[in-house]
Amino acid sequence: MSANKAIKLAVIGRGLIGSAAARHLCKMGHDVALIGPNEPADFSSHGGVFGSHYDEGRITRSFDPGAFWRQVNRAAISRYGEISAESGVEFYREVGVLHVGSGESSDVASVGKICAEAGILCEAYDDTGLAERFPFLRSTAGMQGYFEPRNAGYISPRRLVRAQTIAAERAGVRTIDEPALGISESGSGVTIRTTTGSVEAERVLVAAGGHTQSLLGQSLGFTVYGRTAALFRLGAAEVQRLAGMPSMRCIGPKGQNPYILPPIAYPDGQTWLKLGGDPVDMPLESEADIKDWFKSGGSIDVADGLQKQILDRIRDFKFEERRVVPCMTTFGDTGLPRIGPLSERVAVAFGCYGKSAKCSDELGRLGGMALLGEVKAELAP
Ligand SMILES: Cc1cc2nc3c(=O)[nH]c(=O)nc-3n(C[C@H](O)[C@H](O)[C@H](O)COP(=O)(O)OP(=O)(O)OC[C@H]3O[C@@H](n4cnc5c(N)ncnc54)[C@H](O)[C@@H]3O)c2cc1C
Repeated sequence: MSANKAIKLAVIGRGLIGSAAARHLCKMGHDVALIGPNEPADFSSHGGVFGSHYDEGRITRSFDPGAFWRQVNRAAISRYGEISAESGVEFYREVGVLHVGSGESSDVASVGKICAEAGILCEAYDDTGLAERFPFLRSTAGMQGYFEPRNAGYISPRRLVRAQTIAAERAGVRTIDEPALGISESGSGVTIRTTTGSVEAERVLVAAGGHTQSLLGQSLGFTVYGRTAALFRLGAAEVQRLAGMPSMRCIGPKGQNPYILPPIAYPDGQTWLKLGGDPVDMPLESEADIKDWFKSGGSIDVADGLQKQILDRIRDFKFEERRVVPCMTTFGDTGLPRIGPLSERVAVAFGCYGKSAKCSDELGRLGGMALLGEVKAELAP
């Protein structure tokens, strides 16, 4: 391939990673079609595919225990301003992230240690300091916290997909608001069948999240899990009281390690506080399992557990209404996403470990590079 020749490319999946990949590939000078449907209006009656970004809150931060993830987090966060400028869509709030847990936990201590080693700005708080700095916490006795004040907070994954799509379209990407039904590869190209026709491309990147393996008709060693999040609608007084709250990552044993988003304004005009971190690993083994899970509306038992967690953690927490939301995540054995070629003309970019919203712009860029033949060393199979 000549470096200057525009290649006709397709990206399947207009979620966080796919929309980012399309934007990057187009800006590199290629002719790109981005194929994927919008968020379904009603899960229970929807017969098509689902995604993991149908929400307004995802924690973003530089810190991660793994060097790969820290690097992609930082690369993506450094481009949030660029994506907003190219699209006119704001999606990021720098409210900071508090990592908090028992003062005796080595996992908690390692946050401070890793941040210091990696040059991530981070403030340390003992239990007295936590109570003063974060007065909404219910109990801080014996706790230790590390607060990332910069390049951390939350993004709206829904708005980020919109921003990436608009920026990609402005750069020249053609979006096709339909699911891909199948891919066939020949010596001269790839044909992607959609509901109303087909798209021809020289190469295709599949970034279809939890649907990736079923669309390809092969296992790539990743398991899709159903996840439940709980949202709590807040009254005006509670919104005001919790106004300074950062995103929170509670470190503890399974079931006692929720992540908590601060109050966020949702499209219904209300303010909701979300938490997740459910203790149940429920594998979704087929396309039908994924669809049934989203249609089911999520697990009430898990939401009850999350409700207990929020009442335990936020002093005098009051809410008006609870909503239970289903989602899905993908996990592999390596701890790394799968971003690389499957054949001469087909590449994949997926494997989110429940933490790939924040870094999706960099994962999408790496997916685009993989499609062009350049795979990041640590991701090489
Ligand atoms: C409850 C929950 C909380 C999370 N919290 C965080 C967090 O705090 N911070 C964080 O960084 N990450 C978080 N994540 C993870 C993050 O949302 C995912 O990592 C991210 O959405 C993965 O991006 P993706 O592009 O791989 O998948 P998606 O965003 O799901 O996109 C995949 C897209 O592919 C499309 N698609 C599927 N099949 C087809 C097909 N056949 N044809 C065309 N298109 C298709 C779908 O419509 C979808 O738009 C959370 C996830 C969940 C479930």
